[in-house]
Amino acid sequence: MERAPLLRRPNRRRLRQRIHNMDFIWSPWRYDYLASGGRKPSSCVFCIGEDRTHDAERLIVFRGDHNFIILNLFPYTSGHVMVAPYEHLDSLASAKTEQLTEMMQLSQRAIAALQALYRPEGFNLGMNLGSAAGAGIREHFHLHVVPRWVGDANFMTVSGETRVLPEELHTTYERLKSELAR
Ligand SMILES: [Zn+2]
Repeated sequence: MERAPLLRRPNRRRLRQRIHNMDFIWSPWRYDYLASGGRKPSSCVFCIGEDRTHDAERLIVFRGDHNFIILNLFPYTSGHVMVAPYEHLDSLASAKTEQLTEMMQLSQRAIAALQALYRPEGFNLGMNLGSAAGAGIREHFHLHVVPRWVGDANFMTVSGETRVLPEELHTTYERLKSELAR
């Protein structure tokens, strides 16, 4: 006797992957969280202190008065940076005006430098506030600045969460640091 065909249940894994892919395309700044698998570092990577000795290995490209610019260790595209206040603040609401003002000024500066170096065709700016929003490090808010090119999502490889990047991180670091210092 022929068995009744089983109803095809939606493949959860495939569904998750599809949502995952959409995150890449529409919310590239979420990639820090996705790439880290949601793991939290033992100490806050955005609490950098005043010692500049290790700025290069920590990928800190620029220090302002209230905020700094740091390269994303898991960049969505070359030049993906984050602007964060020095102060360990978990919410935008608790930030002071001077911190927020400078955060925008540094974003502007980052955009100008990235524009000069890489000629991107667009930018995504975004914040993930709270774990439900996908914040990798939710205790210390930060703003992602992601340069975009038409079709850049085409070169992404999702399997194994490995991204093909056109430039090595430390090369980006050196180039961006000197451009920001101009
Ligand atoms: Zn912190």
